[in-house]
Order: sequence, then C-alpha cells, then structure tokens
Amino acid sequence: MGFGTTGKILRVDLTYGSIREETFNETIYRCYPGGKALAGYLMLRELPQHTDPLSPGNILILATGLLTGAPLATTTRFTATARSPLTGAYGESEAGGFWGPELKMAGYEAIIMTGRAPSPVYLSINNGRIQLKDAHHLWGQDPDKVQTKIREELGDTKISVLQIGIAGENLVKYASLTHNMRHYNGRNGMGAVMGSKNLKAVAVHSSNNRYSDIAHDARALAELGKRLSKQYKDHPQSWALHEKGTMPLVGGLNSAGMLPTNNFNSGVFDGVDNIRWEAFDKEILVGRQSCYACSIRCKPEVQVDGRYKVSQKYGGPEYEAVAGFGSNCGVDDLQAVAKANELCNRYVMDTISTSATIAFAMDCFEHGIINLEETGGLELRFGNANAMLQAIEWIARRKGFGDLLAEGTLRTAQTIGGGAVDLAIQVKGQELSMHDPRGKANVGLGFAVSEIGADHLVSMHDTLFQNDKSIAFQGAKALGIRNAFPATVLNDEKVEQYFLCENWVSLEKVLGFCYFGPAPRSFIQVDEVIEAVQAATGWNIDLEELLLIGERATNLARVFNTREGFTRADDTLPKRLFTPLDAGPLKGVTFQYKEFNDALTTLYKIKGWNPATGIPTYQRLESLGLGWTVRESGMQENG
Ligand code: SF4
Repeated sequence: MGFGTTGKILRVDLTYGSIREETFNETIYRCYPGGKALAGYLMLRELPQHTDPLSPGNILILATGLLTGAPLATTTRFTATARSPLTGAYGESEAGGFWGPELKMAGYEAIIMTGRAPSPVYLSINNGRIQLKDAHHLWGQDPDKVQTKIREELGDTKISVLQIGIAGENLVKYASLTHNMRHYNGRNGMGAVMGSKNLKAVAVHSSNNRYSDIAHDARALAELGKRLSKQYKDHPQSWALHEKGTMPLVGGLNSAGMLPTNNFNSGVFDGVDNIRWEAFDKEILVGRQSCYACSIRCKPEVQVDGRYKVSQKYGGPEYEAVAGFGSNCGVDDLQAVAKANELCNRYVMDTISTSATIAFAMDCFEHGIINLEETGGLELRFGNANAMLQAIEWIARRKGFGDLLAEGTLRTAQTIGGGAVDLAIQVKGQELSMHDPRGKANVGLGFAVSEIGADHLVSMHDTLFQNDKSIAFQGAKALGIRNAFPATVLNDEKVEQYFLCENWVSLEKVLGFCYFGPAPRSFIQVDEVIEAVQAATGWNIDLEELLLIGERATNLARVFNTREGFTRADDTLPKRLFTPLDAGPLKGVTFQYKEFNDALTTLYKIKGWNPATGIPTYQRLESLGLGWTVRESGMQENG
C-alpha cells in the first residue's frame, strides 16, 4: 500500500552517461504531487537562471501525473518540461497515450535529463534494466523505422518508444515528441531540447507492476474506474467526442463566426464544407484509436489514396490541425490537410505552430512583405496547398526559406521586418492555437497570461458557460462558477471564472488527467476527481487543497518566467485581435485595449500578483508554500 506514487525519480546525465535513482519523501509529493507541479519544482530548484535552452545546461524533465496509469478513464498524461527554445520562457507540453503509464509502471515518477551525449543515444528502461544505447543508426530515420528497430534490438514488441524526428534533430524551434506514432507532446519545442542533447528516444516498458501496487486503496480506485468507464455515455460532450472526436468544432466555430481563417484575418471560411466533419467522415476517416484505459477513443485514423497519399500509420488530424492547415492557410482540400498533418507527424513537429507559421508567411506574401525571391520560389498565397506542403518539408529539413520559418513566427517577423511583426499571431513567441479570442474572451485572457505562450488548454473555454442549464455549467458549479455570460463578455466575474478554471486545469496537469476527462468539459465530476485522489493517496484532501496545488503549479512557472525577465508587458495579445472580425455572426466584434488591460489587472489582483509588473507578491508565494522560490530566483521580497 502506498500513496499513489513510486516516490522515485531517475536522473540521467547524458554528458557522462551516468544514471541514478533518487527518492523524494511524501511531504514533497503532497506539495508537488506530479506532472506540472513536480516539474515546476524541479525546474526552479535545478535549472540555473538564463540557461540557453539548446545548451547542455538545459534540463529536460519527463514527469507523470499523480494518477497517471491508474485504472481510470483519461488518466493518461505526462509532461515534458524544459526552458523553451521557442519562447525562452517556461516550456511545457503534455501528451496522453501510453508512455506515461509505462513510466509509472516502470517505477518512476519522472526522469530528469541533463547534459548532452557526445554522440546520439537512446535510453531504454525495460523491465528493471536501464541502459543508454547507441543511436547513430537511428538518427535521420522516420519514427516507424526507429520504433521497429528499437523494439527489435530490445526484443520487446510492446515497449513504448518516445522519440524525436528529424525536426528535433535539426533543432526546429517547435519540434515535438511522439510515442507509439500516435501521441504527441506538441508544444513549446521540447523535441528541439531533446535533439540538442543528442537523445533520440526513450523506450519504456514494464510487465510486472500495476498502479494498484502503489495505490492506498486499490479496491476503491478500481470500483470508481468501473463506474467511470460507462459514465461518458450519459454526457453529451463526452459522447460526441467518442462519436466524432474534435472535428465538429470546424463547422461549429465557422457557424459561430470564429473559425480562424487566413491567419486570423476572418472567422468565416468560404471552403468550410470541404473540411468539416461530414467531409472528414466520408472522405478520409478509416478508424479510431485510444489512450491507456480510455473508452472514449477520440483519436482519428485517416487514409488517403487520391491526389495525395496519406498513411494510416501516423494517425490522423484533429481539429487543431484541420483548422490550422485548412481554414487558417485558406486551404479547402481535406486530402492536402491530411498530408500536411502526416508530414508534421513524420518529422515530429507541432502542427499548431507549423501551420500558424506558414499562415503567417502567406499573409506576409499577400501583403508584399516577402516575394518569390525571398521564399526561394514558394508562392505562399492563401489556398496554395502545394506551397504549404513544400514549406513543411523545408522547415523540417531547415532548407532554404524553411530555415527561417523553423524559428517560428516572431523571430521570422523580426528578421523580415517591414511590418511583419504585426502579422505574427503569437504570444511570448508561441503561435496561437486555432481559437479566435474575439469570440471567446477568456480564451484570449489565457493566451495572454499563459506562462508557456499562447495555448488553448490553460483554462476552460467560455462557450461552456453561456447557458446555466447546460450539463457543463452544472458541472462547473462545484468550482464556484455562479452565473452564465455570453462568451464575448469580459467582466470581473468572467475573470474570476477564468482564475477558478485555470487552477482546475492546472490541477488536471498535476494529476495526469486528459483535458477531455473531468468536468466542466467532460464527464468526471469534481467530487469524483477528489475521490480518486483520496483513494490513490490515502490523504484527507479536499477541493480547496487541490485547487491550491493547481495554483501553486502555475505560480512555479510564473516565478520561473519572472526570473528570466518576463513581465506584464509580455502578457499581451497580437495586434490583429484588436481589430473587428469582418463577417458572420461576430462581424464587428473585437477586443478593446482598455477592457483587456482592465481584465488583466483584475486577474493579477485575484492571483495576488503585483498589478503593475505581473510578478507574484511575496505574500502570495508564502501562502502557497512557495516562499523559498523568492530566495532561489532572486526576486524581490516585496514583489
Ligand atoms: S479522451 Fe481522447 S485524448 Fe483523452 S485520454 Fe481518452 S482517447 Fe485519449
């Protein structure tokens, strides 16, 4: 009987090839129980200030959540954390799938990678045997070959292989990680960090252990798991996810006037019928896959044998990739969109940042800021699918104009000049996900304030809380959400809703829950999350303590950014979002600078951060048990 953790972390020094275990006591885990919190704790404790993200000095942390691998639907996630080469800020990227549960079963809460291997290696953790192995022959190879080869070498067809692709080897600033060729730590360039360490892959498998070995009350956890495995069928949003994945968002957001189109120039896409769910289902969808222990099975598999050839082996695009390479690049060819997604998965690059960077380049081309000479002959006009696909190849290989695009929108814009920065749809250097904040005000607040740069999974989306009769709204009441508002409203109560939901979503990343598991978005109710933590740990823990853990994790990342020089001035939105939408139901709607700045001030006050600087106050950090971070980070005690 345990408290839901193995207690152990693994330290791998790639420079010297040394590997050792370390055990943390229960007191540490009660404050930083896993995932985002544990990684944040380690980042502040161990990473020196101003470390170059692609130097051997950066650390790469792979950390499971407290409940990762528990016999509960959607407890699948692990985080990859390092200083981000894309933003220079706190870098973090979660993935579901199977690798996190495998690491937990192998007996570790986290792996901390330091240094740089003298030549390419991979790490194998296989039924208790841990080794660094030569990876010369795997460098430059596609993920399917790498996975097959590693499985052959280790004689284990089930081992879960987390790896970088050639984008990571080439230090593309938004290179990602993939495992089992279906699951991605997409954001913030964690693949480039791993590539800079000459680390090709981390393969993990353990056939001997189960989560029940470390759970406080394995029987209670199993009973809860049985209940939850059916519960999603009674929840409309979870059932819709099971039936159609995230693809219905394409048509839904277009009808609402907020489908990112032509680099966020519009919220309505003329070619939407060719890329919406109905076309996707009819033309390219061939199957579905799932993550560990999850009956929702929301992940699509596609195949194309037409204008383009797309293999099922890399899974298939979800909403973000379809909107990113579809409407936001002005492309209404679903086969081309599927091909673009396949290329990103093959080269292991973030589909959001890749598509957004190409959309930005198209905007620059359309404005005459760049021309054919500068692009090396690529006619980067909105709707040019072949140019889009060529650009992906060039980015991954850092060839020609692709070498510049591989730096992301902000650096590319700063290099190009000529007003390009105004067309870069990014925050802190990270490209926006495919959600237009002019239609969802709190999503905009999240894009601005997020420590990792713009991302759509830092709080809940306003659209869930427009109707107080909806099941999502009912599920949110336990968190303190009291009143429904239109999604475009940004008043003080909406800001408070943002704060409550941000702490909850942060907690999900600590526990290892998929965003599509717990309420208000989905079917696992707030009291069932508490029940799960109590059964796993034996702790007498309540919602208040859990929300504080979520808030603590966010503050760890915030302190990290403060240490690196980020301030309120970095919590902003791209200029374009302060111009009105041009068509559809939201025609004329925009963010107002004053309203946005007032909301930011209100949020800082709620969070206990200095409203002028955005820096957490010493008093707030003390109350979160983070007084030590002030001394570690060199922040002033008066905030
Ligand atoms: S809801 Fe989808 S993404 Fe989340 S754990 Fe289940 S299958 Fe994976």
